[in-house]
Amino acid sequence: MSYYSPSIEKLIESFEKLPSIGQKTAARLAFHILNASEEETNEFISSIQNAKKNLKYCSRCYNISDTDPCNICSNPKRDENTICVVEDVRDIIAIERTHEYKGVYHVLHGSISPMNGIGPDDIKIKELLARIIPETKEVILATNPRVEGEATAMYISKLLKPFGVKITRIAHGIPIGGDLEYTDEITLSKALEGRREI
Ligand code: ZN
Repeated sequence: MSYYSPSIEKLIESFEKLPSIGQKTAARLAFHILNASEEETNEFISSIQNAKKNLKYCSRCYNISDTDPCNICSNPKRDENTICVVEDVRDIIAIERTHEYKGVYHVLHGSISPMNGIGPDDIKIKELLARIIPETKEVILATNPRVEGEATAMYISKLLKPFGVKITRIAHGIPIGGDLEYTDEITLSKALEGRREI
């Protein structure tokens, strides 16, 4: 039985659906919203609505962006012939923070995971292959150093072999089972620097 009124209960439930939000945190957030001014609440609601409405996928790299192509793909200073393949949009932010990488990206939006029913066709692998042109110098496989990330990197490297393009995998400075997103800049820039050909 709930001690809250139905409206509060509903708000708490909505927060609980967000990743890593438990029941206690959900209740705290719900009460924070209830105590916030109308102006603050409206600003919060419209920032969610605007993000949902304006953000789109970049048609080249599948980054999430306000513009298509995204600001990385449309930047003439970036080397469009070096493509860094990542699982998630947040990995781009992590690599950008190192200020070491000057190429472009390709976001897979996941990794191959037969256990979770995710096959090669469920992530942006075909789209990556379509981007490979004779001028492509290097494809850096920067998927997470987990079982799924490794399997995805191996799978992609096999598909890329016939293109004769240089394929590299980031070095294992990143803890096994770790996330690129949560790796500090120094470790990540060393991992990128120490990438090896596969
Ligand atoms: Zn892009």
